[in-house]
Amino acid sequence: MARIVDQIKGHGQRLQALIRCAQEGSLGSSLLLCGPSGVGKRQVALGLAQILICEGEGLGCGVCPACLRVEKRQSESLLMIEGQETIKIDEVREVIKALSLVKWGRARVVLIDDAHLMTAQACNALLKVLEEPPKDSYFFLVTHQERSLLSTIRSRCETLRFGYLSRDVVEEVCGVSGWLASQGSVEMAQKLADSDWEQARSKLNSFFFTLLEGDRSKGFELARELARDRTQLTFFCREGQALMRDVRMNQEEIAISMFEDQRELIQRLNSLSGNAILEVGQSLIQMERDAFTNVDRTLLLENFWLASKEIFSVSSNEGGL
Ligand SMILES: [Zn+2]
Repeated sequence: MARIVDQIKGHGQRLQALIRCAQEGSLGSSLLLCGPSGVGKRQVALGLAQILICEGEGLGCGVCPACLRVEKRQSESLLMIEGQETIKIDEVREVIKALSLVKWGRARVVLIDDAHLMTAQACNALLKVLEEPPKDSYFFLVTHQERSLLSTIRSRCETLRFGYLSRDVVEEVCGVSGWLASQGSVEMAQKLADSDWEQARSKLNSFFFTLLEGDRSKGFELARELARDRTQLTFFCREGQALMRDVRMNQEEIAISMFEDQRELIQRLNSLSGNAILEVGQSLIQMERDAFTNVDRTLLLENFWLASKEIFSVSSNEGGL
C-alpha cells in the first residue's frame, strides 16, 4: 500500500505542481498527457486519480480504502479504457453510462490509455461529455501520438507534455547502464536490453553505407528489415541522429567517444557539408515522429533513403564526399 505518486521516477517539478493542483482542487477536468512512450505518463495519471479519489485526510494518503482500491485498479471511481488495437464507441459509451450513475466517492476519473486508438465515432462520443463534464469528473487521456488525436478532442483538453527521462532515472528503474540508460525511456531501454542492439546498430551502419555507395536495392532491402517493428525503427532514428551529431562534432574536431564499429562510417561521412548533416538529422527527427502514426514504415524508410541520397549528391557536387 502506497501513494502511487511516490513510485513515479522523474518529472520532478512538473509532477510536484500537478500533485499540488490535484490536492488543492485546481486541476483541469480534461487533461491530455502526451510525450514519448515509456516515460511514466500513465503512472502520473493514476497517481493524480488516487489523490482525487482519496477519502483520507492526506488527499492521496495511499492508505485509505479508496486509495487502496485505486492502487489495485478496483475502484468504482476509476474508469479505465485501455486500447489494444482500437478503442471503439461502445467502450466510450459504457464509461459515459457509468458516469451517469450515482457517485459514491469524492470524484470520478476516466483514464483512457493510448487515447489515439479511439475511432472517430468514439472520439465524437467522448467529445460530448468533455463539453459538459458531470460534476467532480475528470478525464485523463494518455498518448504518445498526440497528433493522431482529433483536433477537437485536443482543443478540449489541457495538454501536459512529458519529456524523456534522465539517464539516472532509467538506470535506477531498469538496472541498465551507459548507452542503454541514455535512451530516455524505460520501455525503450527494456526492449533494447532484451534485444540484440549491436545487430540493430550494425543495420544502421549498413544502411548509411548503402547511401554512400548508391546501392539502392540493398538500401531498400534493409528498409524492409528495419521497418518490421516500431522499436527497431525508433532506434534507427535515434541512433541515426546521434550518428549525425557525432559526424558533425568530428568535423569540428571535438573529441567524441565513438563506437568502434562506426569509426570508418564517421570518417567517410566526414566530407558531407554541415548543412547536409543537419538536413539528414532533421529527416530522422521527423521520421521518429512519423513512426508513431499509421504510415507504412517501409515507405518511410525508403523515402528517407531517397531523400538522403539526394542530399548526399548535392553535398558531393558542392565539393563534399
Ligand atoms: Zn487516501
